[in-house]
Amino acid sequence: MKKYKIIPIFVPHSGCPHCCSFCNQRHITGQHSETTPAAAQSVIEKYLSTIDSEKNHVEVAFYGGSFTAIDINKQNALLDVALQYKKQGKIHGIRLSTRPDCITVEILENLKARGVTEIELGVQSMRDVILKKNNRGHTAEHVINSVALIKKYDFEIGLQMMVGLIGDSKEDVIYTTHEITRLKPDFVRIYPTLVFKNTKLHELYLKGEYTPLTVEQAVEICASALKIFNDNNIKVIRLGLLLDGEDAKNNYVAGPYYPRFSEVVRSRVFNVS
Ligand code: SF4
Repeated sequence: MKKYKIIPIFVPHSGCPHCCSFCNQRHITGQHSETTPAAAQSVIEKYLSTIDSEKNHVEVAFYGGSFTAIDINKQNALLDVALQYKKQGKIHGIRLSTRPDCITVEILENLKARGVTEIELGVQSMRDVILKKNNRGHTAEHVINSVALIKKYDFEIGLQMMVGLIGDSKEDVIYTTHEITRLKPDFVRIYPTLVFKNTKLHELYLKGEYTPLTVEQAVEICASALKIFNDNNIKVIRLGLLLDGEDAKNNYVAGPYYPRFSEVVRSRVFNVS
């Protein structure tokens, strides 16, 4: 079986109409400038110089912002760079991440025409009250509707959820886990909430109005969620955020960050199963 190789292209905060309580994408991705088509091409070339496209399954991934909320001409300029490599057989898929309220029929038809194969949605919680408290700017209904539409257009679909948001409890996370399970995504990512500088969460943390989970609490809650996904044959491809680069590390303030987080959670589930 061919190995998956991802070529990540970050589009930090691009197009995003909101400012979620926890988000400072520029710091998480360590990138401040806008991603141009030329920059995207240079990233692809750099990765392809070390990847054998015949022996691997290679995908370009546009991560880090709300891709489908970017100006349509900018979206298309970036996608056309990737599409050119897909047509040449040098890459085999194109994936991107976006918000549940930035999916429409027109958007999906455009993505299909430009060779996109997989869409990831930031769900974070299926409780409207938690979404509101964290300034997400969308509801659980947006998630349900956009997942149905994405499936209708036959894209692969991934859903991201968070643990330890403002107002969140273990019971809320388990509720979100069951709701996501009902939506039958192809895969899930689970991120414990971390506090970064220049975010609403940071302000609340400094005022003593937000207390992040400890690593142990986050492991325990994530293990419960992982068990539900495992029991329902839903792949969890990521557990925990990686702080890549100095910028991300310098802007991390508090919260359950642990480099081997995924390993610890998976072994917790394995040991109790
Ligand atoms: S929707 Fe995504 S990119 Fe936009 S503020 Fe929220 S987490 Fe950040």
